Amino acid sequence: MDHKERRIHNGYVYIRKDSNKNFEYSNLIQEHIVVAEEQIIDRPLKEGEVVHHLDENRSNNSPDNLLVLSGPMHGKLHSWLNKNNIIPKEEYANRLKLGCVRCKVCEKPIDPNLEFCSFSCSKDPVNGCQSAKHKFQHPTKEELQELVLDKPTTKIAEQFGVSDKAIEKLCIKLGVEKPPRGYWAKLRNGEQMLVW
Ligand SMILES: [Zn+2]
Ligand SMILES: [Zn+2]
Repeated sequence: MDHKERRIHNGYVYIRKDSNKNFEYSNLIQEHIVVAEEQIIDRPLKEGEVVHHLDENRSNNSPDNLLVLSGPMHGKLHSWLNKNNIIPKEEYANRLKLGCVRCKVCEKPIDPNLEFCSFSCSKDPVNGCQSAKHKFQHPTKEELQELVLDKPTTKIAEQFGVSDKAIEKLCIKLGVEKPPRGYWAKLRNGEQMLVW
């Protein structure tokens, strides 16, 4: 989906379902719905499910700002927030000013510590940032195999400025096997790891 063009209505960001069509009402979808489905739950929203903006900024569609809840849970959350007078922390207040953090190439909403939504965007030679700092080299299968044994996916993702999901997708694409679930937790606890 082309995330570059968007409209804001009532504080919500709208994008086109089909980038070849015009900005007509029937062709629009709320961006936070797309981000939740594509980047958080990896499935379409079910009837009655709601996407909540944690910082109350309806146009901040970075995945870490969104929470998928059932309608009743969402209602409870809001009454609880109201009753307890919850005020976003300073960092969230700053995020509010900053608005949504977007991929530098395709402008898809991303977590604020990332620069790109995916490997393909991070190595985009035309639209991507040209400075050496942002130039991204796709790791080879051997390099990635070494990396996954060396550190958790989140750390590798940080190193390349992409999401965990992008690393996982690349592992599958290159046929790189990741250590089993719980490997890093066990290692932190000083447990002996068996060869797997
Ligand atoms: Zn809400
Ligand atoms: Zn992108």
